[in-house]
Amino acid sequence: MSTAVGASVDTAPTLRARGIRKSFGGVEVLHGVDLDAVAGSTLALLGENGAGKSTLVKILAGDYTPDAGEIEVGGQTYRALSPREAQSNGVRMIFQEFQDADTLSVAENIMLGRLPHRMGLVRRSEMQRRAREVLDRMGIDLDVRALVGSLRVGERQIVEIARALSADARLLILDEPTAALSQQETDRLFVFLRRLRERGTAIIYITHRLDEVMAISDHVMVLRDGTVAASGATGEFDRASLVSAMIGRSAGSVGRPPARTWERGSEPIVRFDRAASDGAFEDVSLDVHPGEIVALYGKLGSGCGEVAEAAFGLRPLRDGTIEIAGRAAPARGPVRAIARGVGLVPADRKREAAFLVRPVAENVAVASWWRLAWLRSVIRRSSEARAYRRWHDELGIRSRNDPMQPIGALSGGNQQKVVLARWLERGSPLLLMIEPTRGVDVGARADFYRAMRQLAAEQKGMLVATSDYEEVVQVADRALVMSRGRVVSHLEGDEITTSRLLAEAGG
Ligand code: ADP
Ligand code: MG
Repeated sequence: MSTAVGASVDTAPTLRARGIRKSFGGVEVLHGVDLDAVAGSTLALLGENGAGKSTLVKILAGDYTPDAGEIEVGGQTYRALSPREAQSNGVRMIFQEFQDADTLSVAENIMLGRLPHRMGLVRRSEMQRRAREVLDRMGIDLDVRALVGSLRVGERQIVEIARALSADARLLILDEPTAALSQQETDRLFVFLRRLRERGTAIIYITHRLDEVMAISDHVMVLRDGTVAASGATGEFDRASLVSAMIGRSAGSVGRPPARTWERGSEPIVRFDRAASDGAFEDVSLDVHPGEIVALYGKLGSGCGEVAEAAFGLRPLRDGTIEIAGRAAPARGPVRAIARGVGLVPADRKREAAFLVRPVAENVAVASWWRLAWLRSVIRRSSEARAYRRWHDELGIRSRNDPMQPIGALSGGNQQKVVLARWLERGSPLLLMIEPTRGVDVGARADFYRAMRQLAAEQKGMLVATSDYEEVVQVADRALVMSRGRVVSHLEGDEITTSRLLAEAGG
């Protein structure tokens, strides 16, 4: 696979970075990193959350200014690239978080910045034709007139990739592009990346999925705490050596939670019996008891998130039943589900959960407003503030203890804790979580997991739908592995290991 690289005509790297350093708020997160991106070659950039991968590639794309180091590209040496200089040198980046303007159409998104004009007007038909061409080349069937806000996460990602590819890229950077893709979409992306590599594009590919590293890359580089922990030809590594380079100790010891010392309640708080929902999942049976954390693990598109949504009344069943605390779950609408004691912590907190510009205290209080509403508004303000302060301490929300600051000022992990606090304030005995720590850094993640364990000890039941196998290992008492809408395996206790999860989900 990597033999063609040595024989490449173009031996000078497309981009060469040396001694890159970067600090945020006085804390150095990159301590002098070197990187070569070579034409016609794919570099997999690996590392645990918080290792500095995104920061490094943002520097290469001109989004961040490094504190020290040099970047050589296009025959020039830069102290720092501006976004424009990165662009003009053919550096294209696909971000972890979506950049789409939701209200634009697919075509407008793909052509953004290069909209065909005639006498000052965007030529809609010409734009749609060109966007259609790009998608056709990728073998993708998407309506170019659809609004991006109406697309599934995976489809939005495809639009991002198409946008990067429609402008000729010399160096294409993908930051965890498959986190939200189905297996089919991932396969299609890989076909396309291989084609680009053959055409001589240099690719930097960030992922934490080792099967993807083995499938797509020629070289690997592992970052750990802002330094290069390992690098070389992909063929020189196996899974075990990559994992130990990432975590700095040998694999297998990725932390299981301490054994549970409390009893789970006897009656399940939620029970699915052969539940099926069209286009989402089939024949799902499961139960969650008070005091228990049950994970649904699978790639996005496997149906995990949809199962959790169904328990929140967001998805009608075609077959089977869902019971909450022994009674049939409300079929429609989260309002009834909330009234029955169900809380939801969704993945995309920016879109669905937090009212980012509203004060944190209001965000905590919103699910229990009817409990607070009979109070006059002045009293309500102070009771919101009290509720917030309580959870601030209990969940370890790291921020100023100021109930009136906007929630958008908090880090991702702390925003998720506020969403969690909202349901705890409501007293919800069942918490559904969908990708609760996606995009959350490693420290806040550990805090969030600790809060989950504590809630389990207080007899809350949790159903966590996730595509992050480390999350499953770190929190779950039991795990159900899903693939293509079906539960393919049940794991319990010590059976829950990264290797078992990966093996079961792949089968
Ligand atoms: P990775 O992509 O490997 O998960 P990141 O590059 O996102 O890691 O983050 C590396 C470290 O830098 C983390 O500790 C993160 O919290 C911090 N960091 C990243 N971006 C910022 C920022 N804009 N402001 C402050 N800290 C940041
Ligand atoms: Mg990152």
